[in-house]
Amino acid sequence: MSEAALQADPPRIYRGKRLVLQQGGAFWDLGAFLERRGQPTHLVDLFETGWLDGSSLEPLLPSNQPEPWQPLDPEEEAALLRAPALPIRPRAVGKILALGKNFRAHAEEFGEKVPSDPLYFNKLPETLVPSASTVSPPPGYTDRLDHEVELAVVIGLGGREIAAEDALDHVAGYTLANDLTLRTLQGRDRREGRPWLRSKNFDGACPLGPCFVPRDFFDPSRVHLTCHVNGELRQDASTEDWVVDLPRAIAHLSAHMSLYPGDIILTGTPAGVGPLVDGDRVVCAAPGIGELVTLIQRPA
Ligand code: ZN
Repeated sequence: MSEAALQADPPRIYRGKRLVLQQGGAFWDLGAFLERRGQPTHLVDLFETGWLDGSSLEPLLPSNQPEPWQPLDPEEEAALLRAPALPIRPRAVGKILALGKNFRAHAEEFGEKVPSDPLYFNKLPETLVPSASTVSPPPGYTDRLDHEVELAVVIGLGGREIAAEDALDHVAGYTLANDLTLRTLQGRDRREGRPWLRSKNFDGACPLGPCFVPRDFFDPSRVHLTCHVNGELRQDASTEDWVVDLPRAIAHLSAHMSLYPGDIILTGTPAGVGPLVDGDRVVCAAPGIGELVTLIQRPA
């Protein structure tokens, strides 16, 4: 498979009632496939067995040997696309670390400079919700709430002091995140020297999905990220414009704290963040991963 083909149509793994594999426009019952082979059916466990490696997975794909695969029935496929689960099991999620101001143009839209040292903060695992979720800001908050499309990286192999040249070996795969932010509160807290914790963490503040793409089938260094609100393009950039690339981000983070399987790294949002109002439909997208949809509900 050529690199361009990998990026355009990689195998995508969804969690519905069980794991589902999408390839070549068709959906296949991955859960049943794994069970018949006595394999674990959780992504982080699968990573540990090496099953998600390109060399193991590619020969098994439906495009290469369709016989052992059971297509998903159309009703189940429709239900999966209407309401996909989180790409990784909530209890398998560790910490969520997020890079701030990792696109120069985004730092500049707030009149700020790119930090000389990578800036990061955290989101709590309890903020995760799947694609197609409806999210509201906390009760009583009527100020600005912003969308932020980001490439999300799932760690498969833990470690500390990971060298940049080994960093991608620690990645299980990729998905998308919408780093929802209470922007007015963030500005107020920042002026008062308070942490970003509460402006970045509320129920539903981290939509994640819609699916998981195994590491070897995806190139994180040139991902075209977009965010549309009600069909209008708001964010549009490539990860080629990252200030700190993924290998260096993993090296930096793991020099400071150990990373564990199931940890998630949000890699920063491009310019174009903006406010969301009641009824907005936010679509964060990247070729190869698909669309992460968030519906916004705000009391009048
Ligand atoms: Zn962000």
